Amino acid sequence: MSVERTFSIIKPDAVAAGKSGAILAKLEGAGFRIVALRKILLSQAQAEGFYAVHRERPFYGSLVKFMTEGPVIVIALEREDAVKKLREVMGATNPANAAEGTIRKCFAESIERNCIHGSDAPETAAVELAYFFCTLDLGL
Ligand code: ATP
Ligand code: MG
Repeated sequence: MSVERTFSIIKPDAVAAGKSGAILAKLEGAGFRIVALRKILLSQAQAEGFYAVHRERPFYGSLVKFMTEGPVIVIALEREDAVKKLREVMGATNPANAAEGTIRKCFAESIERNCIHGSDAPETAAVELAYFFCTLDLGL
């Protein structure tokens, strides 16, 4: 497996709780290199666009509200098999079902306020990286 890039967001719950450093340490500890990183406040339109795939789901409005309630940290990550490995270190969507030691098990509050996003496939990673970072950012 060759070196691959993926996209992550430290969500508003974890940023507000002062958990960003601990989450970044877990990512680096799992062998990820931080290619680019920025702290931003998502607009409603940006959050709606980012989670557009979920727009028919009953939790969509609440999810968009959560993702815009405070700053997030958007991150471009790199390692071998990055997409799959990030999903592993994040743990299950619902922290109640997440494996011991995973980021969501350690830091998430609930199925919605689950502290981290990770792209679910290489194709989505490419789209999500381009949604938040320009070519210059990703050259590092
Ligand atoms: P993410 O896309 O954020 O990495 P995921 O791929 O594990 O998470 P998805 O099914 O894509 O999970 O859901 C996107 C996000 O929507 C979840 O991370 C969570 O914040 C929220 N969410 C998912 N399911 C529910 C639910 N049943 N109730 C409330 N919020 C939910
Ligand atoms: Mg998802």
